[in-house]
Amino acid sequence: MSRIAIIPGDGIGVEVTREAARVLEAARDAFGLDLSLETYDMGAERYLRDGVTITEDEFRTLSDDADAILLGALGDPRVPGQVHARDILLGLRFRLDLYVNYRPCVLLDPRFCPLREAEGRTIDLDIFRENTEGLYVNAGGVLREGTPHEVATQEMINTRHGVERIVRAAFEHAQRHGRGRVTLVDKANAMPIAGGLWRRTFTEVAEAFPGIETDTMYVDAMAMDLVRRPERYQVIVTSNLFGDILSDLAAEITGGLGLAPSANVHPCRHALFEPVHGSAPDIAGQGKANPIGAVRCVALLLEHLGHGAAAAAVDAAVRRTVADGVLTPDLGGAASTEQVGAHVADAVRGAAPAANAV
Ligand code: ATP
Repeated sequence: MSRIAIIPGDGIGVEVTREAARVLEAARDAFGLDLSLETYDMGAERYLRDGVTITEDEFRTLSDDADAILLGALGDPRVPGQVHARDILLGLRFRLDLYVNYRPCVLLDPRFCPLREAEGRTIDLDIFRENTEGLYVNAGGVLREGTPHEVATQEMINTRHGVERIVRAAFEHAQRHGRGRVTLVDKANAMPIAGGLWRRTFTEVAEAFPGIETDTMYVDAMAMDLVRRPERYQVIVTSNLFGDILSDLAAEITGGLGLAPSANVHPCRHALFEPVHGSAPDIAGQGKANPIGAVRCVALLLEHLGHGAAAAAVDAAVRRTVADGVLTPDLGGAASTEQVGAHVADAVRGAAPAANAV
């Protein structure tokens, strides 16, 4: 049996996770999967009520017992400094050493693409963002704060170990999914110290994958190219900061935050799936949030657990729902979060193998 921990979190995280869980249950029943789902009360409400973010016991259960974690979103304007989000999400990311941030960006329908001549474009690229190092480790310091002579340093940490493992994860993914090219994105012209490590490591790791073409791009050129000819890219591997920015750009050209899923993974150990969007307090509680990003996380989660047919059924059900025009307002539709979730779940049930059909 696989144990799945569900953390709905805050704001629209709660709404979209309800629909993701509905789809997961539909896949479980339709495909006869042995899955147990357990929901965890972690988020702003609990923090404001009890002053608790995540306990050591909860951390241990998530770390030792859960085969996968499905998270909605964390973030609430009532919590100063978003301390709960830091403890829970960054806590899990760093303590479980989830070094791969995987973001598939697929254009499901040309209508969702804001680029010119969207019709006929095929955007289908996978971003591998390093998730535990780079500029986000918060190394550095401030001198003479608040004076005209203030000095602020924010250091970028790159280790051979950290770079090698994310680069290898990108190549292994390319090999597994029949992707022909991996592109390294950096800024090796202006940042040659970090760039040198990334490029040497990339070249060395690539030697073990002779069937896969390689390519390097500066991040500024990549930002332009993702707008100009995104169909050229298959797998992109990059550092924490560049991956953060490029994956939002890639999400936008494929329909926006509401559609985009992500996985935070330590291969063969831990995996946490979350939609790319945040808790969106401006639309929370109105039934308007697009649940597709969260639902596509379910497909990634099922694939991660080895349930390829069920994952493909969820993916096909999302495409069916889009084709049927059952869309939330962010995509120009009038459907509610729940209506979209229910439509996807029905389509998953319809895809059940005959032996398990209910
Ligand atoms: P965070 O700091 O947690 O990333 P944020 O407020 O900066 O959060 P999001 O919460 O991701 O950013 O959302 C930005 C805006 O995009 C929201 O205010 C909302 O209007 C829109 N948005 C985000 N996710 C969705 C969604 N699933 N469905 C519809 N609109 C969304």
